[in-house]
Amino acid sequence: MTTIPTLGIIVPCYNEKEVLPLTISAMQRFFEDWKGRRLITEESFVLFVDDGSQDDTWSQIEHIHAMDTQFRGLKLAHNVGHQNALFAGLAEGHLSADCVVSMDADLQDDVEVIEQFLAEYAKGNDIVYGVREDRQSDSWFKRSTAQGFYRFIDQLGVETVFNHADYRLMSKRAVEALYAHPERNLFLRGMVPALGFQTTEVSYTRQPRLAGESKYPLRKMLSLAWDGVTSFSVRPIKLLFLLSLFMLIVSFGFVGYALYRQYEGKAMDGWTSLMMSIWFIGGLQLFGIGLVGEYVGKIYQEVKRRPRYIVEERCG
Ligand code: UDP
Ligand code: MG
Repeated sequence: MTTIPTLGIIVPCYNEKEVLPLTISAMQRFFEDWKGRRLITEESFVLFVDDGSQDDTWSQIEHIHAMDTQFRGLKLAHNVGHQNALFAGLAEGHLSADCVVSMDADLQDDVEVIEQFLAEYAKGNDIVYGVREDRQSDSWFKRSTAQGFYRFIDQLGVETVFNHADYRLMSKRAVEALYAHPERNLFLRGMVPALGFQTTEVSYTRQPRLAGESKYPLRKMLSLAWDGVTSFSVRPIKLLFLLSLFMLIVSFGFVGYALYRQYEGKAMDGWTSLMMSIWFIGGLQLFGIGLVGEYVGKIYQEVKRRPRYIVEERCG
């Protein structure tokens, strides 16, 4: 790939009026530099996705577009959350770009490393993950819960990139492959690694937010984490099923024990039948739920209508 790529930078924004002017002037500086050095084409652009902001984020975007057309905007009618807003931006942006980079509006991610992303893209990588070297800029709470969460979903069999948020470069065809996933519950940090393609990582140091407050309160973090587990793993259902089998085996033991006590004449009236029913019916119920869960798990995978495979290349 010797031709210069057209780059689209996708920036979801939710009530970002404090930081947007800083983001815009930073991007202007970087674009001038990169375009001047012919790292990216003149058609390269920044696409701001206004995720239903209540402040004047959108009028700022319109204003900058009027002055400088390398800035584009997409206004969503309602707040749909970071993941959906990002997906909307990728869907729109990849149409007129060779590769796209997704980035937060608050400049926490080091914009300079996009140059390294582009170098990796030129080497033939379809996806380049930005990985945080350390999380010193995060609070202790955010750092430990986030890292604990990634270890946990790893155990559940969800493939993610450790210490990677949504700062990454994707080639046009990688976004097309992502776009073929029609599911509604998005957890892009799990979906993108599942695409395949040639990928690599670039590490960077994450800065504190430049201005404004975090738009990811605990409630949204928990909801993202919950989507991460339930959109990718049916292992909880399988665990339920295993537990029920275990309970059934234990119940047989208890039935034997209760019958033995009865036989010895050491059991109170009614104790034997009571013990037998509690354990056996309990186990049977759990078994039933686990069995139904297995089918629900299958239905859930079917309704996602994820593509069965993704073609990377063809010849002939
Ligand atoms: N964001 C969004 N919709 C939301 C919440 C957040 O588009 O409902 C955007 C936000 O404007 C920012 C990015 O998602 O560009 C990450 O949010 P933030 O920086 O507040 O998260 P944090 O870095 O605190 O995890
Ligand atoms: Mg942030």
